[in-house]
Amino acid sequence: MSSFAASISKVFHGTFIHSVSINEIEFIEGGLLFIDIHGRIARILKGVQKTQLGNMLEGVDEEKVIILNENQFIIPGFIDTHIHASQYSYCGNGHDIPLLEWLDTLTFPHESKFKDPDYARQIYSKAVARSLRNGTTSACWFATIHLDATKELVRVIEEQGQRAYIGKVNMNQNSPDFLIETTESSVADTRAFIEYVNATNAHMGTESKPLLTPIITPRFAISCTSDLLRELGRLAAEYHVPIQSHLCETSSEIDFTMSFFPNSVNYTAIYAEHGLLNRRSIMAHCVHMKDEEWALMKDVDAGISHCANSNFNIKSGMADVRKMIDLDLKVGLGTDVAGGYSSSVLEALRCSRTCSIARNPGKSLSIPELFYLATMGGARVMELGDTIGNFRVGKEFDAILVNTSVKGSPLDIFAHDTVQTKFEKYLFVGDDRNNERVYVQGKEVRVPEE
Ligand SMILES: [Zn+2]
Repeated sequence: MSSFAASISKVFHGTFIHSVSINEIEFIEGGLLFIDIHGRIARILKGVQKTQLGNMLEGVDEEKVIILNENQFIIPGFIDTHIHASQYSYCGNGHDIPLLEWLDTLTFPHESKFKDPDYARQIYSKAVARSLRNGTTSACWFATIHLDATKELVRVIEEQGQRAYIGKVNMNQNSPDFLIETTESSVADTRAFIEYVNATNAHMGTESKPLLTPIITPRFAISCTSDLLRELGRLAAEYHVPIQSHLCETSSEIDFTMSFFPNSVNYTAIYAEHGLLNRRSIMAHCVHMKDEEWALMKDVDAGISHCANSNFNIKSGMADVRKMIDLDLKVGLGTDVAGGYSSSVLEALRCSRTCSIARNPGKSLSIPELFYLATMGGARVMELGDTIGNFRVGKEFDAILVNTSVKGSPLDIFAHDTVQTKFEKYLFVGDDRNNERVYVQGKEVRVPEE
């Protein structure tokens, strides 16, 4: 056996669809894609006929080879740049209540239950499994303030095999008595959490890159004092970890925030002044931004999680995603469960399209742009643009094997359908039933049975 064949863990033959730029989707027909034992794409050949496979696969074990049929194709896995694991249990509820009231009446009482790690495991197992079934191979998760429950989320994600940024939430002011920390405990638990995730990664000790990353997660500026925000900025720098939070989601939230930080010129500046805005920051929403705030985001190359499903459903407003793209800001899609009703990035994509039509008639997002945001855009927001997001030799293989004609599928295929029309049907009609297999770092994920 050749050394190349020995280094291969899987080979796929069939149609591959991915973004090569924000304006271009490449359809690779007759693609032959080799994955190495570390989950990286080792070789990509195009235009290979089935009759040529015998020669090309010499030395590769038959059980490593997957040959797709004409109704199947492979796309990069979806990237959900903003989701709350603890809110999954009431996904679809509370859409008649505005943000700050929604937090008080629904979110905070539910999140307080996560002081019990056993309860946390129940909810987190279902949240992560649903996200993976929906084809999300990478996610940026918010947990709650509870250290033990957030460690439980790490274990659940590790067991199920998703790539993830995981954050223990920080809250030390403007929070109910049953869901609040002291500054000291918030900082100490965040440090302990970062070290726990780092130790988990070291323990796994593989030659592949770790899939789990701790992320600094102040809920938003309202719920953290200036002292706490400053300490969190220091932790982010000390451990070289990313940062996630909410920014300019609703007008009343902005007014309330500014009343606590009267010396800051705007909301975005609050994060910047506390060491929390840099190229590894992921700011959700950015619905109501001033020009100088866009400029600040651009200056530091911070990323944006565009959460149109949530913005519609808790009626926060419509983000100007066209402006984000025109300014060449890093932007990806977030489901923002449970502000958003679905952890499917396909749903986020559809809502993002509607939002862009309503916000910028005549300059709405194209299908290549939407698909890019769901995949490559998200990878760039996570600062993983060199690792995942599309199919390039050397990148890691995070992917969905889509079957457009699976039994029980919501979409119907006809004789006139082409690769392009099947792909578009999947984007706008398909759902998790079409996600036949999901791969992270070259391995098929182990989603528990429902
Ligand atoms: Zn959120």
